[in-house]
Amino acid sequence: MTSLPGRQVRGFLSLRKGRAPSLQGRRRVLAISVHEAGIIYRLKKLCISLTSQSDHPLLVLCGTKNKITNSEHWIPKLYFRIASCLLSCCDLKCRVFKNKLIFTKLSSCFCGIIPPVAQQLHRENIQRIVREALSLSKVSPSELSAIATTIKPGLALSLGVGLSFSLQLVNQFKKPFIPIHHMEAHALTIRLTNKVEFPFLVLLISGGHCLLALVRGVSDFLLLGKSLDIAPGDMLDKVARRLSLIKHPECSTMSGGKAIEHLAKQGNKLHFDFKPPMQRAKNCDFSFSGLQHVIDKTIMQKEIEEGIEKGQILSSAADIAAAVQHTIACHIAKRTHRAILFCKQRNLLSQSNAVLVVSGGVASNLYIRKALEIITDATQCTLLCPPPRLCTDNGIMVAWNGVERLHAGLGILYDTEGIRYEPKCPLGVDISKEVGEAAIRVPRLKMKI
Ligand code: ATP
Ligand code: FE
Repeated sequence: MTSLPGRQVRGFLSLRKGRAPSLQGRRRVLAISVHEAGIIYRLKKLCISLTSQSDHPLLVLCGTKNKITNSEHWIPKLYFRIASCLLSCCDLKCRVFKNKLIFTKLSSCFCGIIPPVAQQLHRENIQRIVREALSLSKVSPSELSAIATTIKPGLALSLGVGLSFSLQLVNQFKKPFIPIHHMEAHALTIRLTNKVEFPFLVLLISGGHCLLALVRGVSDFLLLGKSLDIAPGDMLDKVARRLSLIKHPECSTMSGGKAIEHLAKQGNKLHFDFKPPMQRAKNCDFSFSGLQHVIDKTIMQKEIEEGIEKGQILSSAADIAAAVQHTIACHIAKRTHRAILFCKQRNLLSQSNAVLVVSGGVASNLYIRKALEIITDATQCTLLCPPPRLCTDNGIMVAWNGVERLHAGLGILYDTEGIRYEPKCPLGVDISKEVGEAAIRVPRLKMKI
């Protein structure tokens, strides 16, 4: 089992406080991640986030996603993005870690996601982006120790651009290649900021994923459960859109999930009674689409009761937001509780010193975190979350995964013959059936949040 030397983490943390280390003689990893088709951004928001983030040494996000687009107040422009591309320099001997990054936004006037167009834009821009990243960090390609690239899972056409460009670089500069799994990179990000030893439990909750896994090593994962349909972020985005929160003066610049969290503070969750999904299934899987349909129906009924048209904001929107958030929090907390009990029962996690890591865009929801805190308090676990900017998709996590793999000597390829991208690729070894068969009863906890 590998663990990160504490001093190395401290070296990195001191960099965050502004003490830039010298780069001479360091190991360096170029990380390339192109795994999405495109995201609908609000133009103004994108520009603001680019400006405010541009001089931050850590951020690599290309803008803030906003999926609530059904409104005339919004310009539904499509920005294809190279998810991230950054240069990470790491010296394992000298315990110094440094990131330099570069953003890009690729724009198109099409209203809708057109993967081949995204692919073309990625192709046209990737070379320039990587060149700029290298020049920004003042590192020449010959000084790189390795090139780490996301090859799974993700959108085929996008992954293909990242992979073929990376392989060109690999051949040109004769560098080792490190293929990266997007979800593994999410799961290990916590070890960049905190001293966390293997094994630990990870809950990934985002716009595209929802899963519980035991992380036993850099490339050793046991999948305990996952969403059987949509992810919680996707559901929150859909509910926010259905509630037309884009028209709400306080929420118009927020992502769907953030808007629900914000509005929920003003609402009464007891005014609506949504039942958490899958209450009888004693496994660690999740489901959100059934709940979403129930919420849709409730909203429609309320619109009739209040005599308003679809697209106008209900007077009960805050109450609905509060109830939705509470129901999701209870569902996520219960599955996570069962996962902790399963791992402890099988001695997969320490009895007294277990760690639960929560990551993904939805992990920034403080109400959901509090629900998880109730679970970790009751099970004597420590709850850890990466800072919000490292929770959502970012390039640093890809670089960090490259660094972890270099450090552990795992998955470093000197021959890239036959390497392929994989649009669909589950995380680790799936033991969710075994978890279900264990049928662990979860004690009732008061979810007083
Ligand atoms: P993936 O990482 O699985 O590819 P993604 O890129 O869509 O999916 P993230 O960038 O990790 O996901 O997170 C975005 C999601 O997080 C959105 O669905 C958004 O609504 C949700 N989100 C952001 N902030 C909050 C919040 N405070 N509460 C709940 N959800 C939130
Ligand atoms: Fe992600």
